[in-house]
Amino acid sequence: MARQENVSSQVQSCSKNDPTETPIVKGPNMDSLGFLAMDSNVPGLSQVILQKLNMKSYDEYRSAMEGHKLSVGFGIRSYFEMFQKMEDTFKFCVECKKLPEALPNPKSLRRCKRCQNVYYCSTECQRANWPVHKKFCKKLKLVALDQLMEWLVFTGDIPFATTSWTKRIQEVRGWEDWFSMQENLEEKLSSILTGRYMNILWANTGKPKPDEAELAESVKRVTTDFVSRPATIGLGLQVFQINPCSPSRIRRVHVGMEVVMIGVDVVDGPIMRPPLVAFGPREKVYLSSYKGLYHDFWESQVETHQAARPDLIVGFHPGFHACPDLMESWLPTLLLLRDYKIPSLFTVYSEQELKCSLKISMELEMQITSCGANPFASLKPEQAYSNPNKPPVFCNSHYFTFCGLSGSPDEPDVGELEENKGEND
Ligand SMILES: [Zn+2]
Ligand SMILES: [Zn+2]
Repeated sequence: MARQENVSSQVQSCSKNDPTETPIVKGPNMDSLGFLAMDSNVPGLSQVILQKLNMKSYDEYRSAMEGHKLSVGFGIRSYFEMFQKMEDTFKFCVECKKLPEALPNPKSLRRCKRCQNVYYCSTECQRANWPVHKKFCKKLKLVALDQLMEWLVFTGDIPFATTSWTKRIQEVRGWEDWFSMQENLEEKLSSILTGRYMNILWANTGKPKPDEAELAESVKRVTTDFVSRPATIGLGLQVFQINPCSPSRIRRVHVGMEVVMIGVDVVDGPIMRPPLVAFGPREKVYLSSYKGLYHDFWESQVETHQAARPDLIVGFHPGFHACPDLMESWLPTLLLLRDYKIPSLFTVYSEQELKCSLKISMELEMQITSCGANPFASLKPEQAYSNPNKPPVFCNSHYFTFCGLSGSPDEPDVGELEENKGEND
């Protein structure tokens, strides 16, 4: 799915003031903010998307995007119709921002032939836009391709079955190393390229099918997008030198690795399995979730000993730098992580976002322990949906880690060092 832009004025409140509301945890949802904010660039776009897809609300849209309702109740009778409707949501003139409805002839909206991504209402608009678009046209071609190929994640073709790691974690420094561990990679890719759903895809999109090599590269990019999150958790374990299998740890807990996903939208509907009340199987990763904000999780689960104090916190695109209002909900969590000295890793979409996040973190006196480009960043480019002529971004592109308060008293200060030096002399 394309990444949308965020606008601070559209932040939804936590709806504290409505006593009639069911006690479902609500909070800032970056995707929905972005979805609604699209209208600030292309007025009416979010409504067009919902209308085209026969949906009433953003929640329904999100749920469909996650593949829940594609077969039932989606109001779509064929794959052809599904791909057409998805494509319809991209139809607006990138130059003058007009939607098809606003044009004397809606069919005058034509797609850029090179990238198969953006639309123009006229050759005048295309010409006017070209100086900007030419910088992004090639990249937007990859975006458009990957957007279609992402459907194969919902059909189960991507990711291909991976095998046990054959290298030590220290030797896997990035995607090249990761792919080199995948046995019979060529065969696995080729079975996706010749699979049933790949054929359905290209028989129904109304776009020319790229050659095998381009498709294979796209499968790899979408795969990195899928694996980026668990691989980034691995990076966090590496950075903080946490060994989930260390003897002391196993003696302490006799369990596998517990991963708790925390957020207002990590689970759909009620939580089926409360987190951490029962230990997971040894040498396995035990996944559970908590629907709420992190500081609520801490109060209700960690402080009541229903969950262990975490060894590592990983936040994917928390986006607290993006708008001041979000700080209201993020601030308690950031201060909690800082004051309890929890090793934490956050990811961001770009170097620019990294700089902004670091600035805020330093203002909050968080001790930054490392930062930089993430070797396990997604390689799938994402465009700003309502304004495609911008450099694409990548999920988990950069990361930073922090632990405790900056200038923490654990570190020997300069005075102590000098004293020791004197003794040695
Ligand atoms: Zn136009
Ligand atoms: Zn183009």
